[in-house]
Amino acid sequence: MPYVKNVFAYLKRTSPAQSEFYQAAEEVLHSLRPLMERYPRYRQYKIIEQIVEPERQILFRVAWMDDRGEVQVNKGYRIEFNSALGPYKGGLRFHPSVNAGVIKFLGFEQIFKNALTGLPIGGGKGGSDFDPKGRSDAEVMRFCQAFMAELYRHIGPNTDVPAGDIGVGAREIGYLFGKYKKITNRFEGVLTGKSLLWGGSLGRKEATGYGAVYFAENMLRARGQTLEGKRCTVSGSGNVAIYTIEKLYHKGAIPVTVSDSRGTIYDEEGIDLVLLKEIKEKRRESLTEYHKARPSAKYIPLSEYPEDGAAVWSIPCFAAFPSATQNELNQKDAKTLLANGCECISEGANMPSTPEAVDTFLAAKICYGPGKAANAGGVACSQLEMAQNASMRSWSLEEVDNKLEQIMQSVHDTASSTAEEFGEPTNLVLGANIAGFRRVADAMIEQGLV
Ligand code: NDP
Repeated sequence: MPYVKNVFAYLKRTSPAQSEFYQAAEEVLHSLRPLMERYPRYRQYKIIEQIVEPERQILFRVAWMDDRGEVQVNKGYRIEFNSALGPYKGGLRFHPSVNAGVIKFLGFEQIFKNALTGLPIGGGKGGSDFDPKGRSDAEVMRFCQAFMAELYRHIGPNTDVPAGDIGVGAREIGYLFGKYKKITNRFEGVLTGKSLLWGGSLGRKEATGYGAVYFAENMLRARGQTLEGKRCTVSGSGNVAIYTIEKLYHKGAIPVTVSDSRGTIYDEEGIDLVLLKEIKEKRRESLTEYHKARPSAKYIPLSEYPEDGAAVWSIPCFAAFPSATQNELNQKDAKTLLANGCECISEGANMPSTPEAVDTFLAAKICYGPGKAANAGGVACSQLEMAQNASMRSWSLEEVDNKLEQIMQSVHDTASSTAEEFGEPTNLVLGANIAGFRRVADAMIEQGLV
C-alpha cells in the first residue's frame, strides 16, 4: 500500500538515525494495511501521520557527582507519546545503550500495549544512558535526585506516571520518589513500582513475568495444550525473567535457563530460584556466582556465542520466554528453536525478536505472543497501583493477581479475535497492532485535532 510506504519514508527522512524506532514503526504500519483499506476514515484524519509523532519529547542534562568527587554528565529523556486514552504511562530505562531512538521505539510500542489492556492509560517512556552497574548506592541516589530535579516539572499523577524498566527497580523508584516529594511537597501516585511501605501495590513486582506466563497459557489453551511438565527457556535474569520463572514453577513447568550480559546458565534440573533471587535481587552480582554455587549447572560465557545467535536459544525447549532486551533473538535463533521443537514464544521483553525472527515464527504458525501483548501485565498492574493510590486503598495479592490474570486473558482474546476478524487467526502481531491502534485512533478522532 503506497500510502503506508510514503508515511514510513517520511518518518525516516524527518527522524534520522533512529533504527529501533523504524523497526517498531514498520511492524505496526505493515500490520495496519488491512485496517486502512477497510476503514478510510483513519486515513482521512491522518491518524497514522499523527500517531508516529510524539505529543512531546523532553531531552535534558543530568549532572551529578560520583564518589570520587568527579562531575558526571548524562542525558535524560522523557517521551510523552500519546495521551488519547489517559495520562502518559511507561517505564524509565537506565542503561548505557539508551538513546533517543531507543526511547522513541519503547514509547511507540507502549501506546498500543497500554491500549490493548483496555485501561485508561496513554503511552510514554523515558530514561538515561546512565549505567547503575558498579555504582554505589550513594551514586545511584545522587543520579536519581539529579534526574528528578528536571523530570518533576513534566510529570504528575494525572499527567505522566513513570515506572521502572531495565536498570530501574525498587531502589531507583524510591530515590526518584523521595526527590519528587521533596521538591513538590506532595505525596501522590506519580510513580509506580513503589515500595509496599509507601504506596506500592502487591503483585506489581511480579506482574510482567507472571503476565507473560499467563499469556503463554492463553495461547496454548486455544490449542488444547498446557505448560505443565514442559521445559522452558528464559533469557535475562532481571525483574521480568525472575518472575517468569516463579510463575512457570507455579504452573508445573521446568525453566532451565537464565542469562545476563556476560553469559548464560543452563541448569538441566531447573533454575534454583532462591539462589537466583539472592544473586540478582540482593547481591546484584553476575551469573558466574550462580555457577560457583551450583557447579552442576552449565555456564556458557558470551564469548562462546559472539554475535551470530544467543546461547539461550540453542537449548531445546517447549516454550521460550525472551526477557532481556530488544533484538536478542535473531532468525538463526528462531530456526534453531523451531528445529528443536519449540511450540510457544511469549515475549517478556520489548521487541526481543528481530523482524526476520518474527516472520519465521509466524510462518511456522506456532504460538507467538509479541511483547506488546505478552508483557502488558506490568503496565496493567501499574495502572492498578494508580487506582489504589487514587482511592487510598490497598488490595490483597490475590485480588491483584486475579485481576492480572483476567487482564492477560482479555489482552489475548482481543488480539486473537482481531486477528481472526482480519483473516489471519494465528497472527497475534496483526491482531495486537490493529486492536491497540483502533482504540487509540477512535479516541483521537473523538477528541479532535489537538
Ligand atoms: P532488569 O534490568 O531487571 O533486567 C534486565 C536483564 O536483561 C538483566 O539480566 C540484564 O543483564 C539483561 N540485559 C539487558 N540488556 C542486555 C543486553 N544488551 N545484552 C544482554 N543482556 C542484557 O530489566 P527488566 O527485567 O525490568 O526488563 C527486561 C525487559 O522487559 C526489557 O526489554 C523491558 O523493556 C521489558 N519490560 C519490563 C517491564 C517491567 O515491568 N520491568 C514491563 C514490560 C516490559 P545485565 O544485568 O548483565 O545487564
